[in-house]
Amino acid sequence: MTLFDLTGRVALVTGGNGGIGLGMAKGMADAGASVMVAGRNKEKSAAAAKACGAKAASVEVDVTKADEVEAMVKATVDRFGAIDILVINAGINIRKPAHEASFEEWHAVLSANLDAAFLTAKAAYPALKTSGRGKVITTGSMTSLFGAAFAPAYSASKGGIVQFTRSIAAAWAPDNIQCNAILPGWIDTDLTRQARKDVPGLNERVLARTPAGRWGSGEDFAGIAVFLASSASDFVTGTAIPVDGGYSSTI
Ligand code: NDP
Repeated sequence: MTLFDLTGRVALVTGGNGGIGLGMAKGMADAGASVMVAGRNKEKSAAAAKACGAKAASVEVDVTKADEVEAMVKATVDRFGAIDILVINAGINIRKPAHEASFEEWHAVLSANLDAAFLTAKAAYPALKTSGRGKVITTGSMTSLFGAAFAPAYSASKGGIVQFTRSIAAAWAPDNIQCNAILPGWIDTDLTRQARKDVPGLNERVLARTPAGRWGSGEDFAGIAVFLASSASDFVTGTAIPVDGGYSSTI
């Protein structure tokens, strides 16, 4: 369908080399986009780009470093000539309650999840404006909506992501750039695989609380990415859309 066709569009996906980011990257590649996969791990990013097909490439970046973020944006424009779709998805978690976390740990999470969103969006803005049909997709979390005793910095960063997304949505609407957040529920990725092992009962709690009765997968993010990256969402901006198997809709 033309409404969802991404042929001729260029997507840059931070944290696109695994989990949710790779699910989004593959979905957009399948819909016709050229995709730049960005991450710290060079080999993982190259393999992910290969999985996205012939029109994909990869770039090494630490999104907490402004000069590297600028180089990532430049590499994308040099390689593909434009950026039409920016996916701000890279993220980390350090699971400790506030009374146990150090200031360094607090800052590491805020830096990777929130400072990096600012750096990435700001660096890509000129290209998105030039595109004339820019799209920004950010990755929030259930902790954008709920607090989490074991993840104060992560929750603060993911709450912040939603308000940041709403702010750039308002600022950049005159440039025809739509900005929206996705809020994943519990998704089976590298980020949660360890938590599943470490936290007794977590697996059972997630299954009991999620109406869909399962963990999500990276592939569950292909559809929402294509929607938010395509003309199908041209009048959708400043929203935060749960992709959570119903987790946030029940108590
Ligand atoms: P992964 O660990 O698979 O993905 C995290 C990605 O972020 C990796 O590609 C990693 O790349 C990248 N990354 C982390 N730090 C940096 C950095 N400093 N510079 C560049 N890249 C970085 O986990 P998910 O797919 O689960 O996580 C993706 C996003 O989804 C995150 O923002 C996370 O907070 C969010 N999320 C995940 C949920 C879940 O249940 N899994 C739930 C809600 C939100 P590399 O390995 O190369 O460093």
